[in-house]
Amino acid sequence: MDLSSYTAFLFDLDGCLRYGLEPAPGATLLLQRLRSRGKSIMVLTNTSAKGAEGLSEELRGIGLEVPPAEIQTTFDAAGEYLRYRFGPTTVLCIGTPALHERLRREGHQVLPLARCREAKAVVVGRDQEFNIDRMVAAAKAIDEGAAFIALNRDVRLPIEGGDYTAAAGPMVAAIGTLAYKEPEVLGKPSPAFFELALRRLGVAPQEAVMIGDNVETDIKGGKAAGLFTILITESNVKPTADHSQADLVVYNLAALLTYFGHGSRR
Ligand SMILES: [Mg+2]
Repeated sequence: MDLSSYTAFLFDLDGCLRYGLEPAPGATLLLQRLRSRGKSIMVLTNTSAKGAEGLSEELRGIGLEVPPAEIQTTFDAAGEYLRYRFGPTTVLCIGTPALHERLRREGHQVLPLARCREAKAVVVGRDQEFNIDRMVAAAKAIDEGAAFIALNRDVRLPIEGGDYTAAAGPMVAAIGTLAYKEPEVLGKPSPAFFELALRRLGVAPQEAVMIGDNVETDIKGGKAAGLFTILITESNVKPTADHSQADLVVYNLAALLTYFGHGSRR
């Protein structure tokens, strides 16, 4: 197996390029090697905490050089998607203060919980302060016909030391259960999220590789979009995941370094 023939490399962020606030083993070296060979790079993340600018800065802080133009987040995509669907609109946001602010910057009016029934859309990301009041307000907005938009349905967020915390998925599930409604999902595994990345890079699916630690999002989504898929197992985001879904399975990015042939090394 030689990966040198692919022109674009799409990386998942958490549990792949970094584990919490530590770079993943081999991440720095692999990015350097890909760049020296002229490969295109895009970090494709379902994160609802920060946008491309903030993540680029955060990554630089741990020694990973990834410019904002090479980072695609659901955090940034949410407001743009709402504008495309509704124009500037009224939103109930279940997420971080930063996500509220990001939606406002896109021209939307972010409503307080008490005015939930006026919302045209409910946007749900990972909310550190998620509680029953927020869950109920979101369900009531959806009852009134608001679009139910989830940034992602990721279940576990891998952090340092092999540990995890809750991602947005459990919160999306709680709201969906209460509202008797399934959400639209903006991030991986939605094919549109992969297609957007390929368009930005100007490459065809068969020229690109998706590398990630989540079978449900990175691997199944990447495969459905026509990409070669590589599963990282070290972060163990789902202990019972079916590894056979991936085209290639490696322990971490350091192990992936051996899959690049000797040709055109610079
Ligand atoms: Mg991940």
